[in-house]
Parts: sequence; structure tokens; C-alpha cells
Amino acid sequence: MTVTDILAQKDFNFLNLLTLLKCTGEDQERLFAASKQKRISSIGNDVYMRGLVEISNICIKDCLYCGIRKSNTQIIRYQLSDKEILEAVQFAYENQYGSIVLQGGERCDQDFILRIENLLKKIKQASNQQLGVTLSLGEQSENTYKRWLDAGAHRYLLRIETSNEKLYRKIHPNNDLHSFNSRLKCIKLLQKCGYQTGTGIMIGLPFQTIEDLANDLLFLKEMDIDMVGMGPYLEHNNTPLWQYRERLISQPERLQLGLRMISCLRLLMPEINIAATTALQAIDSLGREKALEIGANVIMPNITPLSNRENYQLYANKPGMDEGAEDSTRHLIKSVERSGCKIKLNAWGDSIHFKRKTSFRQNEEGIEKVQKQPKQLKSPIE
Ligand code: SAH
Repeated sequence: MTVTDILAQKDFNFLNLLTLLKCTGEDQERLFAASKQKRISSIGNDVYMRGLVEISNICIKDCLYCGIRKSNTQIIRYQLSDKEILEAVQFAYENQYGSIVLQGGERCDQDFILRIENLLKKIKQASNQQLGVTLSLGEQSENTYKRWLDAGAHRYLLRIETSNEKLYRKIHPNNDLHSFNSRLKCIKLLQKCGYQTGTGIMIGLPFQTIEDLANDLLFLKEMDIDMVGMGPYLEHNNTPLWQYRERLISQPERLQLGLRMISCLRLLMPEINIAATTALQAIDSLGREKALEIGANVIMPNITPLSNRENYQLYANKPGMDEGAEDSTRHLIKSVERSGCKIKLNAWGDSIHFKRKTSFRQNEEGIEKVQKQPKQLKSPIE
């Protein structure tokens, strides 16, 4: 089947996705045009902002690809104070970001859980309940997820990294702390608790095949996920996976493959939120804008205090060292607009997919389900 034949279909199977992921030249242009069109007809050309605050690089995990893994002794560990985090929140609020993301290394001790809970309450208070809060703080218990939801978070990102369990085992240490099943269970728990749930994968990992990526797309669909953040894998010299760097496809190829993944995902799941990730920008300074043009609709400018950014290098040459200042925010807005999109300020930018799903469930299951939804689910400023 040709790419044109495949694009004329309503749904896509494994073989269709393989063809789309492999396509180049004019076929790739056709794919990109189709996903751009699909995005406009289903969710319009709005782009939502999330101010990204990297709250700490202290991590109990030892993921073999990640620059802030526990065993990397070459970085200075930091933890932002509540005051620093609230200053970043204030910046996001004043610059009309609408939402923030708190991301950090994984910890699950009681001090940490309580601190995040209190911090969430302070953030909601400091922004008159107006800022939406997404968390990206790894695997936690159901009770912790519930506490953080009750304290004001309403979206959560936890990448599956790869949906191929064998590959997952190759890129993580082989122990209980790094289990594929626990990761999967956590994603399902987040959905059960009522979070808008995001997951995602890395593209171009050593040992990863195009077949794996096609399966990843089908996994995202099967899991009925609300938001996706996926981007190219980027090698980091202080990690065990660095030894396989010779096996990788080139970075420009990883970028193109990343764009095709985003394009296919938009066609498969027209109403979800898809992030234009920082890793795309690490390869090409306009990588994120390219992703927005063909189907992504969320951008996460880094608003971490400048002094700590260099210690949150998940991968080498992580960009955005000057982003987040008022000037660069304006710059970014212009640059996004050149890609044909429009930044929607002061909005939570919830996933339409999620909204449709929950209102459907509410209709089916009646009032009890409605009450289980967090109070803050509706943005006061949208
Ligand atoms: N601890 C949190 C968030 C921090 S890492 C969590 O586990 O969710 C956030 C994401 O960065 C990871 O999920 C991973 O997909 C991505 N990442 C880590 N190392 C990377 C690398 N070398 N190249 C590209 N992405 C990477």
C-alpha cells in the first residue's frame, strides 16, 4: 500500500504505521501535511504553555540512559527551596503561562511526599487557584498519587520509555526498583485516580527497532492515554548506555523519526495533548517549532532558576539555558507563531481527549463518578 492510500484510511494498523514511520521525501511531506490537517480539524492551532520547573536532581533510580541517575557522581545534586519554586511559579503566573510542570528525580520517602503535598497547596494559593499543575515525579504509591491530586495537581507525566518489555530491561538495571510491570501499574493507577495521564517514550534508543516504535504508538492508543511527551534519545557520556553510541542512528535522523512519530500519533489520537519536547530542540534549535507545525500542541519552556539548570542535564547539550526570562518568552511566542500556531495564554489547556472521556463516563456512571473527580478540574480562567 502506498503512503497516499494509507493516509486516506480512518485507522492505522501495525503495518500501516511501519510504512509511515519509514517514509522519506515526498511521502514524508504527505504524512506531515495529513497530520497538520488533522490537528487543525480536531483541536485547532492553539498551543499551550507549561512552565517547567526542575525541582531537584536527587534520584533513587539508576536508569542506564539518564544523566541524573543515582550513580552519576559527576554532577552536583540540588534541591530547590520552596521559595525558589514559588518564585518560578510567580514568574509563570505573571507571564500568563496558565500551567506549570514540577519535574524532578524520583524520591518516595515520607518527607518528600509531604513536602510536595504542602508545596502544591502553596502554589495553588499563590496563584489564586489559577495555575494548572502537572507533576512528573516518577513512580509512587496510589495513596501518594491521591494525596497530590487532592492537594491540587491534576495532570501527571510518567513515561513508559519503551513499551517493549525486553528493551525496557536492557535500558534499566535488572531489579525491583526498575520493573516494567511497576511502571505500567503506576500509569494505570494515575488513570484510576483521575489524573489526566501522560506517558511517552524515547526515540532512537540503542537496540530499538522501527517495529518497536510502531508498537509504542499502538500501546499509547490501547492505553487510551491523554497526553504524550516523546522525543529523541540523546546519549550522555556519564551513563552506561554511552558505550552503545556507535550503534545509534544519527541525531538528524532521530529528529526526523521523532517528527514522523508525532505525526503518526496525531493521526491515531487526534484529540490528545502532544508535547514538543526539549530533546527535539537539542538536535535542532527549531525542533520544537517543527513538531508544533505537524501536530504537537504543547510547549514546556524551562523556568527553573538559572543557577541550577546545568545540573539537570538528562542528556548532553541540553538546551534552554537562557529560556524562561521574559525576553525569551516573548521570543518563543513569536517563533511558535511563525510555525503557523497560536499560543493560548492563561489557559490550562487540558486534553480534549480526557474531557470527552470523563464527561462520557459521568453520563454513564452518574453522579458518584462526578464527585470523585478533583474539585479543581475546571480551570477558572478558560
Ligand atoms: N524522574 C521523573 C522525571 C525525570 S526524567 C520520571 O521518572 O518520570 C524525565 C524524562 O527524561 C524521562 O522519562 C526520559 O524519557 C527522559 N530522558 C532521560 N534521559 C534521557 C536521555 N538521555 N535522552 C532523552 N531523554 C531522556
